[in-house]
Amino acid sequence: MYRRVVVKLGTGVLTKGTRFLSQPQMVELARQIATLHHQGKDVIVCTSGAQAAGRAQLDFPDLPANLSNRQMLAAVGQSRLMRLWERFFDIYGIYAGQILLTRADTENRQRFLNARDTFNAMLEYRIVPVVNENDAVAVEEIKVGDNDNLSALVAVLTDADLLLLLTDQAGLFTADPRTDPHAQLIPEVHAIDDSLRALAGSSQSGLGIGGMSTKLQAADIACRAGTEVVIAAGSAPDVIVRAVTGQSVGTRFPAQETPLESRKRWILAGPAPSGRLLVDAGAARALQHHGHSLLPVGITEVEGVFERGDAVFVQKRNGPVLARGITRYSSDDLRRIRGCQSHEISERLGYGYGPVALHRNDMIVLE
Ligand code: GLU
Repeated sequence: MYRRVVVKLGTGVLTKGTRFLSQPQMVELARQIATLHHQGKDVIVCTSGAQAAGRAQLDFPDLPANLSNRQMLAAVGQSRLMRLWERFFDIYGIYAGQILLTRADTENRQRFLNARDTFNAMLEYRIVPVVNENDAVAVEEIKVGDNDNLSALVAVLTDADLLLLLTDQAGLFTADPRTDPHAQLIPEVHAIDDSLRALAGSSQSGLGIGGMSTKLQAADIACRAGTEVVIAAGSAPDVIVRAVTGQSVGTRFPAQETPLESRKRWILAGPAPSGRLLVDAGAARALQHHGHSLLPVGITEVEGVFERGDAVFVQKRNGPVLARGITRYSSDDLRRIRGCQSHEISERLGYGYGPVALHRNDMIVLE
């Protein structure tokens, strides 16, 4: 049902509420992820637990909870956390790769594109990306701060069609299930509005649902970008497999549109193009009638000055605008590789960002 999924695992899920990472629990989660991976799905793991692992590794030192101490714990724990994931994915013959991000990596356009290319390369080679915040270096200004929001950014970055937020609660409830016997699970949320935020926000005062506030923020970001969201209990049997195969678990937030529609809307509504690519008749045909990407070989001229990640127009010389899209190469780069075959790109530039100048998913072809 879903093809590309981000699974967010909170510290509480990985420790089962104890002070230690629970290895049996992590193996069980790895097993479920492996099942989906072997079915051909792309699974991206967003894992917490670095600080918890660091604290346990250092035998629970009595430290003030300031930023540098938390960063130290994360630095010690992150490598241990990753080692455990590697070991458990190994059981199922799966390679894992670590990606540590900060907010700055998703806000800067070039870094956004570079991070996206890395994720895509890993997924193409069937490597499971294991993501966490780069806590050891992330000062407050560049921090996302919590892995709920981080996982939503990863879902946007990777065009995931499902973000699964696993927690120690069965989902979103009408009241705090721990104290209110009448609390009911909300199976589906169609609008994240103020009353829902108030319900989740109360969790922080200890009344409502633990940590639901950042989960709603994450759900809001993801749903707007076309990713469906499910909040469910990490300990529920087969929860990842069930959620990803479309069975009803926890609380579901339907996406407002598909990731592709959302990206294309952003291209249309986004910043005005700062450059123009003139293309030959073959390239024009490939874009308009065959839904292909634009290759450097079809570009005859490059007008304007722009960076990788900027919006550009595509047209034939003296013709109407054919398309608008996000370029993978800067104007300087394109001037050097226009007209050449894609396999020559790295040779000409000394580096490469892939074979296409404009990918069809990053482009609106105008009628
Ligand atoms: N990045 C933190 C850690 O790995 C967790 C942050 C969170 O769970 O929201 O310890």
